[in-house]
Amino acid sequence: MAMTRAFITGATGQDGTYLTQHLHAQGYEVHGLVRPGDPPPLDPEMITVHEGDLTDRAALSALLDDIRPSQIYNLGGLSSVAFCWAEPVLAVEVNGAAAVFLMETAWKLQERTGDRISFVQASSAEIFGEATMSPQTEATPIAPVNPYGVSKALAHLSVGVYRARGLHASSLILYNHESPMRPPTFVTRKITQGAAAIAKGEATELRLGNLDARRDWGWAPDYVAALALAAEHPEPGDYVIGTGEAHTVREFVAAAFAAAGVPNWEQNVVQDPALYRPTDPTFHLADSSKARDLLGWSPTTRFEDLVGRMVEQDLGR
Ligand code: GDP
Repeated sequence: MAMTRAFITGATGQDGTYLTQHLHAQGYEVHGLVRPGDPPPLDPEMITVHEGDLTDRAALSALLDDIRPSQIYNLGGLSSVAFCWAEPVLAVEVNGAAAVFLMETAWKLQERTGDRISFVQASSAEIFGEATMSPQTEATPIAPVNPYGVSKALAHLSVGVYRARGLHASSLILYNHESPMRPPTFVTRKITQGAAAIAKGEATELRLGNLDARRDWGWAPDYVAALALAAEHPEPGDYVIGTGEAHTVREFVAAAFAAAGVPNWEQNVVQDPALYRPTDPTFHLADSSKARDLLGWSPTTRFEDLVGRMVEQDLGR
């Protein structure tokens, strides 16, 4: 049997790196789109890197013609909610329009060659905005409250359109998923780096925004496994992917400082109103029953272990 060829956008980010490792371990030939100037892949022997930009349509279309992947994972784009407030139009172009172009290109390629292409979109809990139901499922209304959520909703809704058109297109509504590869633009890594720096005597203060926000935080490698399961499942679909357990930023801080061995975290943490967001969904909680039932997916790592692993990394242990 011919080797499965996968194409990943955003291949050198946190999820792209874990997905590359996951697919390589399954014997897949992995190709990845990487922006010029991005850091090189962690495991260069596992992936063929193609430099390019998600918004360069002519180049992207030629690349897909050349690679002829049977699976496309769209992980590329602006991943920071905070950054998308600063660049809302770019967010729609990169997170939204580029996903539509990828699906259109994949669909045309499939029509021309007759070879099935599985398209998997890394969507986000942010498409639900300030959700009116909790926990959220695939049936929860899509009502984003920030530019990031709007851009991801455009891509998510387009997956449904292309699925109806005959593309094996799935959208995985990923809740926050963390690892030692998270950049400190995300609150988790900012906290674990901050707690470690204070434990080592390199800092005395950690400035944070809204400590009352609640998130369903999971372990990133579990989430890329879900992406691969969706690509392989006979039927495409939408899936909510999260742990079903939510914690406040405050609880994350307490767990991280405890793991770093710093008592009385309150003395080191400053709540800075300048770090609050214009609007911020306060509570996300996933109901992943569908993924558990249809994909056989389940998370492997509990909250305390996740925090502990990130702190260990930042302490340099
Ligand atoms: P997001 O859920 O994708 O936006 O992931 P983040 O890790 O960026 O933010 C998670 C939550 O932490 C949001 O509700 C933020 O408002 C909150 N938060 C509180 N303080 C901070 C901070 O200093 N940096 C970031 N990035 N988020 C913070």
